[in-house]
Amino acid sequence: MAFHGSKYCWLNGEIIETKDALVSAMEPIYLGIFEGIKAYVEGDVLDKGRMNIFRWKPHADRLWQSAAVCGLKIPYAKDDLLDATRKTISANGFETNIYIQPRIWPRAEAPEKVHVLIPAWTFETILGKENDRFSKPRRFMVSSWRRIACDALPPQSKTWANYANSALALREAARLHYDGAIFLDNRGFVSEGTGACIMTVRHGKVITPPVAASILESVTRETLLRILPDELCIPVEVRDITRTELYASDEAFLCGTGWEITPITSVDDLTLGEEYPGPITKQIAEYYAEILAGKITKHIDLLTHT
Ligand code: PMP
Repeated sequence: MAFHGSKYCWLNGEIIETKDALVSAMEPIYLGIFEGIKAYVEGDVLDKGRMNIFRWKPHADRLWQSAAVCGLKIPYAKDDLLDATRKTISANGFETNIYIQPRIWPRAEAPEKVHVLIPAWTFETILGKENDRFSKPRRFMVSSWRRIACDALPPQSKTWANYANSALALREAARLHYDGAIFLDNRGFVSEGTGACIMTVRHGKVITPPVAASILESVTRETLLRILPDELCIPVEVRDITRTELYASDEAFLCGTGWEITPITSVDDLTLGEEYPGPITKQIAEYYAEILAGKITKHIDLLTHT
């Protein structure tokens, strides 16, 4: 996915040029937190003034949860940050879908206070118009790094420090010529990807690991768990998945804000199922793309207009 940084960002109450967002080299960044949110152009026709932020509220709630876990106090209300996000979008005049990443970290000169930054990037959506990017084969491996244990770092908080775990797994995957990595948790059960949750498909049922498998409480996962049984008649099960079951899956895909719905071709060179992308993954990805584009009227409330 190609991401391009935007010209303007919001820092501590003001819109400024991203190149001027300078902070001290002494910042204690290891306790920083962030959130990853996307906003989509509505429908197929560009209306510059109109973008839809996907699931603003659960993202804002999780940002506040991450702050509480790390003992950081956010000096704004959630609505202030929504307003700041709208200002960032409007200042940049985006013409494509965007990724927004509110970042909060203690200040070097006063660690009880924080910096709040809202940068944004434009990106191409994974599904793409002709589904070509979606169908590209993706070979994954089970990482030799375990997903952070919940008594070592807080997996349900988007704390930057957690992402050293992801970066090491991704680096290992790249070194071994895989496209990505799947973590096992410290008990040896399937946990998640390096920045997305995992769902497997076996015998027509979607199965995904529970929160206690050291996963992030993914907004996308929660959305799919509600929508799949009710609207696509696909049964879902939340339970531990063994490594063997992962290898024996008919289909598997990652789900998350950044990765959207990304199918997995093989794990440790064992091909999953007979078709790629699998029919259920395809059906889910297409429906999810319609929701993101604001085409499913009953899900319009998942989108916040800018
Ligand atoms: N797990 C991790 C570690 C992540 O960073 C993300 C991305 N936020 C996810 C799962 C997916 O969560 P969401 O659907 O809320 O983006």
